[in-house]
Amino acid sequence: MPEAINYKEALLDPIFNVLSDAAKNLNLESYVIGGFVRDFLLKRGTPKDIDIVAIGSGIALANEVSKLLPKKPKVSVFKNYGTAMLKTNKLEVEFVGARKESYAEDSRKPAVENGTMEDDQNRRDFTINALALSLNKENFGDLLDPFDGLQDLENKIIRTPLDPDITYSDDPLRMLRAIRFASQLHFSIEKESLNAIIRNNHRIKIISNERIVEELNKIILSEKPSVGFQLLHKTGLLPHILPELIALEGIDEKEGQRHKDNFWHTLEVVDNISLATDDLWLRWAALLHDIGKAPTKRFDNKLGWTFHGHEWVGSKMVFKLFKRLRLPLNEKMKFVQKLVYMSSRPIAISNEVSDSAVRRLVFDAGEAIESLMTLCEADITTKNAKKFKKYHHNFQKVRKKIVEVEERDHIRNFQPPISGEEIMQIFGLKPSREIGILKETIKEAILEGEIPNDYEAAKKLMFKKGMELGLNTTL
Ligand code: ATP
Ligand code: MG
Repeated sequence: MPEAINYKEALLDPIFNVLSDAAKNLNLESYVIGGFVRDFLLKRGTPKDIDIVAIGSGIALANEVSKLLPKKPKVSVFKNYGTAMLKTNKLEVEFVGARKESYAEDSRKPAVENGTMEDDQNRRDFTINALALSLNKENFGDLLDPFDGLQDLENKIIRTPLDPDITYSDDPLRMLRAIRFASQLHFSIEKESLNAIIRNNHRIKIISNERIVEELNKIILSEKPSVGFQLLHKTGLLPHILPELIALEGIDEKEGQRHKDNFWHTLEVVDNISLATDDLWLRWAALLHDIGKAPTKRFDNKLGWTFHGHEWVGSKMVFKLFKRLRLPLNEKMKFVQKLVYMSSRPIAISNEVSDSAVRRLVFDAGEAIESLMTLCEADITTKNAKKFKKYHHNFQKVRKKIVEVEERDHIRNFQPPISGEEIMQIFGLKPSREIGILKETIKEAILEGEIPNDYEAAKKLMFKKGMELGLNTTL
């Protein structure tokens, strides 16, 4: 056997010596495996979690480690999985006993039995994730690399340790993980693997939406998400996950008129916005901003291709999609809905930027105004340099106006200058239609710029309108 390569320098964190001592006390072998080793070799920042394999009981090793640590951290045991976890200062350490797995057709939950280190490496998803470093005293830091993972790291290749058809069919989540790693690490998926994913794509249906979304979010958060989405498209996984996006693919032609391919356009928009923001939900908004275009597409003899009302339809689709994928149905979803719903608004006003249009835009967008402008700028994908410049220039004008108007009128977190309660008191009324009319009149006048956003002006207008409505004041 050739001499093993040693990476002691990866194991400088004191936790590794504790691990090594604990394993020795229990008289078992242990290894650090997976993401930690991979990311060390790729020089990818500081790790947050470490995966440890024990040849024996992972739970016993976790308990022994806790005993040796000054703070005696709590060990969380997941009995069903035979795993345990503890937290030291900044790291999460996961423990598992080396295992051998076999899978049934309809589940990604394998039957598990104790195994050797080799068995354990065989069950790993990719060669680059099967790399392990020894924590044993006699060869501390030695690399165990049975599948040439090191070579694959250098060549930037995603490859499965065993026959890819079996690996992907056993646990179809691995298909998404392959694509996620390709997108995250700028790797390519080896051809055999890619073909196996294509053959097994339908198996994704046995995976829960929560797990799918976990990987999808990592794709969306990668530097250039289109890399992942192109792979999802090419492998035929996308229709199983986001059929709403695939529905945007294609160009129709009628009477010599064509519309753009909104699927490929969307991917460009997502890449564009990813240069400007790391916010997951803003990136989701970019991904979904045009989904209403498929169901609203019509050909009109005079207007050509139209997508009338696609923003509204799209925002309704966001809810269904979030619900189906078990994404949060909270303010994050509302934010995405709002951006989809408002995605054309800044364009509509950007030619002729009036104060009142900008006030209305800011009023409706509220806190999301910045994000909305970022989305609109990312939405500019024209290849015509002149138009590209003009559109950006127009949005610059809108942005400038937003700042001006905001300084003067404070619309962003609009609070009516007179409260409904005060109006009710002044006119001696209970909550009623009239109160609604008065409030609306004041708000409209402010947005139109007829009165400034202040108390005195609002009160004056309130009395005027109150008289028109035939109301008596109690003052
Ligand atoms: P990251 O933490 O950046 O997502 P990771 O490689 O650490 O990457 P984890 O999900 O934390 O990924 O998994 C840890 C290790 O467990 C992986 O490196 C891999 O060896 C193994 N693993 C995880 N999920 C699977 C799977 N579905 N099939 C086979 N092995 C897996
Ligand atoms: Mg990890």
